[in-house]
Amino acid sequence: MQADDVQVAAARVWARSEGRQMARRIDDRSRFPRAMNARLDELLELDERILVAIPGTLGSGLAATDRHVFLWKRGAMQAYRLADLDAAEFSTGLLEWVMLRGPGLDPSRPSLGNVGHHPNAIQTQRLSEAAKAELQRLVAGHGDRGAQPQGSPCEATLQEEELLCTACWSRVSAPPDSPGFVCSACGNTFRWGRCSHCRSVDQLPQAVQATHRWRCAFCGLENRERRAPAPTPVTTAERAAELRRREMLGGAEVRFLGAFTIFGSTGFSVPASAVCSLECREAVLRIRVEIGAADVLDLPYDEIVTLETEGGRYTTGSSFFGGGFGALGALEGAGMALLLTKLSQRTTTNTVMRIATTSGEIWLHHGQWTPQEVRIVLASLWARYAGSDKRTKETGAGVPDSAVDVLTKLADLHRSGALTDEEFAAKKAELLARM
Ligand SMILES: [Zn+2]
Ligand SMILES: [Zn+2]
Repeated sequence: MQADDVQVAAARVWARSEGRQMARRIDDRSRFPRAMNARLDELLELDERILVAIPGTLGSGLAATDRHVFLWKRGAMQAYRLADLDAAEFSTGLLEWVMLRGPGLDPSRPSLGNVGHHPNAIQTQRLSEAAKAELQRLVAGHGDRGAQPQGSPCEATLQEEELLCTACWSRVSAPPDSPGFVCSACGNTFRWGRCSHCRSVDQLPQAVQATHRWRCAFCGLENRERRAPAPTPVTTAERAAELRRREMLGGAEVRFLGAFTIFGSTGFSVPASAVCSLECREAVLRIRVEIGAADVLDLPYDEIVTLETEGGRYTTGSSFFGGGFGALGALEGAGMALLLTKLSQRTTTNTVMRIATTSGEIWLHHGQWTPQEVRIVLASLWARYAGSDKRTKETGAGVPDSAVDVLTKLADLHRSGALTDEEFAAKKAELLARM
């Protein structure tokens, strides 16, 4: 693949250096008729790019990719698979043409009288040597690959990568150099994209091809890809590496939901306002910081004493704090309310999630998913929370262990002099108000 790219680049340089074809790229499709370009856009596969564009006379044209040759003439398109072609032939006489050769194709050379009606040839004008060479390379190169004997060194690279389809959570596989995959479980076509914000490799639905806009599943931020030049395709191997880095392959199923923002915590050293994702792993809920210093916080399910979500969708003008958000009142004075207000002003969906464990508390905001949706995606979190040891949750005569712990820590800080009397009193009142 890389050697091919070098050859294509070399061919382009050659095309540029030729006097007649100055600065004209051999893959420049701007001289094709508009109808041909429109039809090409329909026919090109997800990751297929035009490598050779040859405009012909009378509104005809030829386009070649690494898998097809398209011939447009008289308002109709013929598509040939490279595997079905033997060669491309070019005229040497006064009448200039290019013709495709292969089983079942018209083998007669075009003449002045029939070139307009020849089924597998078009008339050309001042065709560059670079375009000829590249078209020939594509047609012949494919034949060579097809003829490779079984057990050749190429076979090692055909080993498929193990993947997790994050649309349907099925285990799937795809060739390492492919730019996407068709999920055998949910039937959808996806490609990969690298997030410009958190640099993660995400799984994108096919529809993104038309809009060039997508929201990263890990950090929740929007990406806008440039239409031209098209971004370099991200390979399945890179996506598989991303999933391995996140320890999502092998072992028990891991479901995750990204785009949470931490807006407060006690007892944990996670940075406030950090963007993170939540991973439901086998024994722990993992909070992974997506933007900023890479960090993970593991909360064992059997240490989680409280798991709450509140919020929903709000029309503009209505108050997020208004609708029965009693628990949020306790945030005032804790410095969390300010950040939460900021976060909730940006979005109409506002979900607040509170996780209290025996070591501390963490408060998260989600601006795209309602509490119901969060619970559906992270259903295994609620199932494991419900299934974990109930006795832990029932100790303390109604007072959450975390609050007691925090109070104990505060008292220690107060004793050591780190907290003033006023500060301790304020924090204590704040905690007691929440119990
Ligand atoms: Zn799927
Ligand atoms: Zn991202």
